[in-house]
Amino acid sequence: MRGHRSQALESASSCFRAFVATGFVMAAGAALIAQTRPQPGVKLPLSQIEAQMFHVAAGKRLKPAAWPNGARVAVGLSFDVDNATASLATGDLISESISRGEYGAIDGVPRILRLLDRHQLPASFFIPAVSHLLHPDMIPAILKSGRHEIGVHGWIHEHLPSVNDAAAEQDMLNRAIETLTKAIGKRPVGYRAPSWQFSQYTMQQVKGAGFLYDSSLMASDDAYEILLDKQPTGVVELPIERIVDDFPYFGAAANGGMPNPDAVLAVFQSEFDVAYEEGGLYILTMHPHITGHRSRIAALEKLIVHMKAKPGVWFATHEQIARYVKANGGRS
Ligand SMILES: [Zn+2]
Repeated sequence: MRGHRSQALESASSCFRAFVATGFVMAAGAALIAQTRPQPGVKLPLSQIEAQMFHVAAGKRLKPAAWPNGARVAVGLSFDVDNATASLATGDLISESISRGEYGAIDGVPRILRLLDRHQLPASFFIPAVSHLLHPDMIPAILKSGRHEIGVHGWIHEHLPSVNDAAAEQDMLNRAIETLTKAIGKRPVGYRAPSWQFSQYTMQQVKGAGFLYDSSLMASDDAYEILLDKQPTGVVELPIERIVDDFPYFGAAANGGMPNPDAVLAVFQSEFDVAYEEGGLYILTMHPHITGHRSRIAALEKLIVHMKAKPGVWFATHEQIARYVKANGGRS
């Protein structure tokens, strides 16, 4: 990010430079504030630290000795169909935010589906229920090929640690499951937390809802069984990572500031290449309102061509991967 920021500086107007310099002064002030941030952990006994660390944690590694048909790597492409829901949840109703999200439904999803059709690839789409209710044509379009999976991604992309209310969270999870079940004709088996962030209640509720897998945690490159308060849950984790996510590069503070999608492609490709060498799992997270843009779809297609050129690459939905590692994993 630092190199990226300095590149932006070089091409910026002097006015913008002054603005950025002010930002650095503010950042320095923030650093001073950060020095005084609370330190509750320093006063806790180890037993309480352990309870916090292992409330939700990695259990048994689920790395199969071999992937189906002798494949060397499993690839799960996922698209979080947030569109404008994250803005709507926080009350950010500014036209820029809403319309940027709306792009996901209008052009992003259709362009992604055309790409996946060209290459006959499966993918998993995690959809906040409200995102579907606002644009109900998306799910039928996604389901049309019969290759793709749809999973739960909250009610309105609520930030669960901020909601911090077990009953409200359970109610939204129930409504999200009901809404998607009605839309796809069967109960979804996969869960991905909005913003990948659990509250203290989330894992218990995900387990209670009977999900086959979650895909919100980052404790390994391999799939693993999630432990809740040190007890096996039976829920498979298909780990995600910010490194293999379009959002940090193109969304958030970057906000399109990453000028060259091929630079992101290089990171995604290198992550894949090592997963391939290690016989591992490669989960890529993208968003229709972010990656659905033309230049980024062009880069994604280059990645797909690179992956397809190698022998032994198993492209599958997250559901297929979760079922496989649950039945065939266990190498520790
Ligand atoms: Zn999301």
